[in-house]
Amino acid sequence: MTAKRVLIVGGVAGGASCAARLRRLDERAEITIFERGPDVSFANCGLPYYVGGVIQDRQRLLVATPERFRDWLRVEVRVRHEVQKIDRTNRTIEVQNLQTGGTVTEPYDVLVLAPGAAPLRPPLPGIDLPGIFCVRNLEDVDRIQAWIGGRKAERAVVVGGGYAGLEMVENLSRRGLHVTVLELLDQVMPTMDPEMVAPVHAELRSKGVDLQLSNPVAAFEPAGLRWPSRTGAGGEGLTVVARDGRRLTADVVILAVGVRPETRLARQSGLEIGSTGGIRVDDQMRTSDPVIYAVGDAVEVRDFVTGRPALIPLAGPANRQGRIAADVICGRDARFRGSQGTCVVGVFDLTLAMTGATEKTLQAAGIPYEKSYTHSPDHAGYYPGAGMMALKLLYAPRDGRLLGAQAVGAAGVAKRIDVLAMAIQKGATVYDLEEAELCYAPQYGSAKDAVNMAGFVAGNVLRGDVDPVHWTEWKARRLAPTEGRAPTEGRAPTEGGSGGEMPLVLDVRDPKEVAAGAVPGTVNVPLPQLRARLAELPRDREIWVHCGVGQRSYYAARILKQNGFKVRNLSGGMKTYKMQE
Ligand code: FAD
Repeated sequence: MTAKRVLIVGGVAGGASCAARLRRLDERAEITIFERGPDVSFANCGLPYYVGGVIQDRQRLLVATPERFRDWLRVEVRVRHEVQKIDRTNRTIEVQNLQTGGTVTEPYDVLVLAPGAAPLRPPLPGIDLPGIFCVRNLEDVDRIQAWIGGRKAERAVVVGGGYAGLEMVENLSRRGLHVTVLELLDQVMPTMDPEMVAPVHAELRSKGVDLQLSNPVAAFEPAGLRWPSRTGAGGEGLTVVARDGRRLTADVVILAVGVRPETRLARQSGLEIGSTGGIRVDDQMRTSDPVIYAVGDAVEVRDFVTGRPALIPLAGPANRQGRIAADVICGRDARFRGSQGTCVVGVFDLTLAMTGATEKTLQAAGIPYEKSYTHSPDHAGYYPGAGMMALKLLYAPRDGRLLGAQAVGAAGVAKRIDVLAMAIQKGATVYDLEEAELCYAPQYGSAKDAVNMAGFVAGNVLRGDVDPVHWTEWKARRLAPTEGRAPTEGRAPTEGGSGGEMPLVLDVRDPKEVAAGAVPGTVNVPLPQLRARLAELPRDREIWVHCGVGQRSYYAARILKQNGFKVRNLSGGMKTYKMQE
C-alpha cells in the first residue's frame, strides 16, 4: 500500500496539532504543511504579552519550528507558501511560493484546511492609514513594536473590547501608554452577560484607561501636524474620530473588532459553508468533500449547550479538532463534541472567565433557564489574601442540568470555570455541584468551595426551599407605569396597601451597612431582629428580601417562609445589584 499524502493548509494551532497527531498515528504518511506566514506553530495567545514586555524573548513564542517538525516528526513545513486554489476533481492544490512568486501543483489524498480567521477591518474612512494595526501573528507584533518604539508612542486607541482588545489594553498600559478603548456596545467582552463584566469596566477605569462604551470609531484621519509629546519625540499621529464626535489623538491604533473565518479556498472550491459563515463540517471534521477536512477558527461548530451552529474561535477547540481530524484520517472513530466557548481573560487585577451558554445565547435559542449569583471568597476567608469572586450559574429549571457559568474576581476564577466546564461537558446538574469533592486547604479554597456554594444556592431553588427573584425584575417593576400601585419608597414595612403589585423590598443587613449604601425604596430589618419584628411585615404582599451577597437573605427567606409570608430572595444581594447598576 502506498503512503497516504496529507497536505495541510495553515500551520498554527489546528494545522500543527493535526500534523503532529497524524505522524504519531501513521509513521508512513507523507505530511506537508503549507503556511503563508514565516512561522509555524507560534503562540498567538502570547502576542499581547510580548507587546507588553511580559514575554521578552521572541523565540519563546515559537512553540515549534519547521526544523523541529522535520527532525522530530518527519513533517515537511513550507513557510511563506500560500495555497491559492483547490482542484477537487484532480485532488490537487496550487501553491505559491511567496518568496519566489513561483507556483507549484501538489497532489493530495487527504487535504486539511486550517487557515484560521482573519481580523475584521471595517471599511471606515482612513482605515489604511499607517499606525493602525491588527494583532494576528508575530509579524504584526513586530510591526507594532517597531512603531511604538520608533515613535516613542504615548497614546493608543484600542478599537474593540473583546478579549484580544482587552489584552492589548493591559499590555499597552503596561508599556506606559495612555489607552482609550472605543467599543460599539455598552459592554466589553460581548460574549458574556453585561452584569458580569461591570467589574471589568470599573477595573479598566481605575487603571486610567479611558473606556468609551457605545461609542464606536467613525473614521481615522492623519493628525496633520506634529503634536508636542511629553518626551518631545512626538510623531505624525492619527486623529481617531468617534461616533459621538470626539476626536482622539493617537500614536498607535489597535483594531480588535473581531475575526471572520478564512473561507476563501473553501468557497472557491465549492465546499459547503454553514449559516454562520464558517466551513461546514461534520462531527469528524469532514467537509462536504469526504477527503477534505477543516479545523479551527475557519469552521462552524455545534454549540455544545444550545446545539446551534456557532463560530467559536478559540485555541483549545482548534487544537482538539486538529487532533480529531488526524484520528479520523487514520481510521479511528473520533468525534468532536462541540464547543462550549470556555475562555478566560485577565484584565489588570481581575480575571474573567466563562463556559457554556450565557443568558443572551439561551434567550436567542429559546431555552428555558434559571440563574443564580453567588459571591464567594477564592479561598478560606480566615487565610490572608482572600478575594471575592462573583459566579453566575445558568441551569435548566426542569432538572437542574448546567447550561453555563461565568465568573469574575481577583483570584481562583479560572479554576472554578474549569470545574464547571467539565461538569457541563459531562451533563452534570446543580445537585452534582453540591456533591462535588474538590481539593481544599485554606490558601487554595474553602471546605465549601465556590462551586459547591453555587450548587447549594441553585439546589435550594429547585427544591423549593427558596423562591428566587432577580434585580432585573425589580428594576423592570420599578420602571413599569406606577398607576394603580403605590411606590415602596419611604414606607414602613406595613404600609403600601394590599394587593399592590410592587413588593416590599426588605434589606436584612446591619444598619451600618445600610448607611454605607442601600437600594432605594427598601425597608431595613436586620436579620438578628427579624424573628421579633415579624408582626411589622405585611402578609398580603410579597416580600423580596436581600442582604450583602445572598446568605443572610436566604436565612431570612427561610424564617419568613416558615412563618407563612410570601417571600422571594433577591439573588446575589447588593453585590449583584451593584453589578447591574
Ligand atoms: P491560526 O492559528 O490562526 O492559524 C491559521 C494559519 O493559517 C495562519 O498562520 C495563516 O497564515 C495560515 N493560512 C491561512 N490561509 C492560508 C493559505 N491559503 N495558505 C497557507 N497558509 C494559510 N484563544 C484562546 O483560546 N485563548 C487565548 O488566550 C487566545 N488569545 C489570542 C490572542 C490573540 C492576539 C489572537 C490573535 C488569538 C488568540 N486566541 C486565543 C485565538 C487562537 O489563537 C485561535 O483560536 C487559534 O489560533 C485558531 O487556530 P487555527 O489553526 O484555526 O488558526
